[in-house]
Amino acid sequence: MPKGRKPARGFWASTPAGRYVHISGDPGMSQAMLDKLINLMDKAYDQVVEHMDKPTVCVDFNGCLDLYTGWVKDGMGTEYPPREGAAEFLEALHSKYKVFILSSIQPMDIQVWLDKNGMGQWVDDVTKIKPPAIAYIDDRGITFKGDFGDVLRQLEDFKPHWR
Ligand SMILES: [Mg+2]
Repeated sequence: MPKGRKPARGFWASTPAGRYVHISGDPGMSQAMLDKLINLMDKAYDQVVEHMDKPTVCVDFNGCLDLYTGWVKDGMGTEYPPREGAAEFLEALHSKYKVFILSSIQPMDIQVWLDKNGMGQWVDDVTKIKPPAIAYIDDRGITFKGDFGDVLRQLEDFKPHWR
C-alpha cells in the first residue's frame, strides 16, 4: 500500500446476472450511472468468459468467402457470389472458435452480405481492425516462419489462388 493512501472501502453490489461486484471507494455518481456501470460489468464478464471458452479465428472476406476475381466498385451486391462450402466452413469453425471476419471492406456491408447468404449466424463479429486471434485465414497471406528471406522469395511470384 503506497504511503498516504487510505484503503478503499467501497461496497458490494449485485448485478442483474446475479454476480456480486465490488465498487471501490465512493464512485460519486448517480444511482442510474451506477446501475449502468454494474450492467457493463456483467457484459464485460460475459465477454471475458466467452473469450476464455473459445479462441478467436479471423477470416478474410474477398477471395475466401466469395467467388472473387478482382475488386469491383460497389461490388457488395451480386458481384461477389458466395463460394460453395463457405457457410458450412463457417459453421464448422464456429463450433470450436470465435469467428471474426477481418476485412478492409465496410463491416456493415459484409454483415448484410453474410445475412443474405445465410452465414450471419456463424460469425461473432465483423471488423476492419485486426483483433488478437490464434490464426488469420486470408487468400493474400504469407505465413512468416521466422525467415525474412523466405518471405521475400515468396513475394516474388506471389499470386492469390483466384488469379
Ligand atoms: Mg482477400
